[in-house]
Parts: sequence; C-alpha cells; structure tokens
Amino acid sequence: MANNPQPVGILAVQGDFALHAQMLDRIGAPWLPVKHASDLANVGWLIMPGGESTTMLKFFEGENLGPAIVDFAAQGKPIFGTCAGAILLAKEVLNPNQSHLGLIDITVERNAYGRQIDSAIRQGILVNGASRETGKGPTAEPATEAPIGEVPAAELRHDRHSRESGNPQEFAGHGRPIEMVFIRAPIIRRVGEGVRVLGRAEGLPVLVEQGNILVATFHPELTEDETIHRYFLNNVRLSRTL
Ligand code: GLN
Repeated sequence: MANNPQPVGILAVQGDFALHAQMLDRIGAPWLPVKHASDLANVGWLIMPGGESTTMLKFFEGENLGPAIVDFAAQGKPIFGTCAGAILLAKEVLNPNQSHLGLIDITVERNAYGRQIDSAIRQGILVNGASRETGKGPTAEPATEAPIGEVPAAELRHDRHSRESGNPQEFAGHGRPIEMVFIRAPIIRRVGEGVRVLGRAEGLPVLVEQGNILVATFHPELTEDETIHRYFLNNVRLSRTL
C-alpha cells in the first residue's frame, strides 16, 4: 500500500474540512472529499473534521453515512475525528446525548469547557509515541524512531498510573510539548480499557486511540504542527492493537 496508497477521505459535509485538506497538501498526502457514502469506496483513510456535530448528523441521515462509516471502520481502515468528529465517533455522548457511531470506547461531554472559555490554546503533551512515525502510510516517510509498539513498557505504565492519579506532571520527562487549539471542545470524561491516551492537556486526555480509530478534542489542522496528521497516516492501524 505504501507504494500506491489510496487517497485520504475528508468528510466534507460541514465544518473545517478545508483546513485538513491544506494540512494534507502540506505533507503531500493525496485526499478526496467525502460527501456521500459511495465516496468511501475510493479512500483508504477518513478524517472527520471539527464543526457542529448536530449539523453533521443531519447530513448523515440524508446520505446514510453513519452505517457506511461504521462499515469503513469494520474493514480496518483508519479514521481520525477532531472535535465534532470525535463526538460522532464516541461510544457515549453527554450534554446532551445524541446519535453517535460508537467506534471508540470513550465518553465525551460536549461543550464541556464552558461558555466563557469556549476557545483556547493550551499547552499539551504527546505521550506513548504519538510523535513517532512508522513510515507505512501514504506519505511514505522512512521510519526514524521506534514504532509505537516498541514504546518501553515503563512509559506505558507511567501513562496508566497518571490516568489514575490524574497528575500531568508525571509526563514532564518524556512527553513532547505541543500547542493545541480548542474550540467549543468536548472533554473526554471516560476512557475505556482498550483505549490508549496519546495526548493530554491540563491533565485531561485530549488525543486517544483505539485500534484504527484516533480522536482529538482539539484542532491539529489549525496549527503548523504536522505531527498528529502524520501519526494518523503512518501509524494508526487496526492490526497494531490486535
Ligand atoms: N461543540 C461542537 C459540537 O458539539 C464541536 C466544536 C468543534 O468541532 N470545534 O459538535
């Protein structure tokens, strides 16, 4: 696949899909807009952008996109949801509950940072190998560091411990700092057993992954930093957690 990769699909029914397209152009990954269920047949990855999840759900109904995306995920194809996209992918949605695809075992609370600080840039950190690439995706970059599967066990233990204690300071030694833009963002209130935390801000998980599903509650497409998109394209695979 690395030699002749399929394009990346960008769900383009509402929201900031154009900024994801700009990011993919910058890193040299071919992409196609996805507006109809049939478009999914032509892409090997899917990005679900930020925007307004309730509006996107209306398009989903008209186009029968929900079942088509579930089927896409069942084929093991990677999906990356940012903000509203994360809400659509979650297993449980609060404030209020609404229709969702249930493809990643997290509970998200919509608009959870409150009205007064509904948009903010926070300093976050990437952990558990989220800033590494394996070089298997459509950008066909050579691997430069150990793939995520080879992250030392001590680092993983650290993360689990930190999740329980809620102490972000524990990552100071090995987390990679990164600027994260939040806009009316949800908060991930629960992370299921099989979900890996790959990024945190203010002690909360903000970038998480389960199998072929990656979600961010912030907007990596709004900064110059290509790390998260590169990670998605080059590392996220269903097989890695099987
Ligand atoms: N608050 C929006 C929602 O609930 C998400 C905001 C965003 O994607 N930036 O869908």
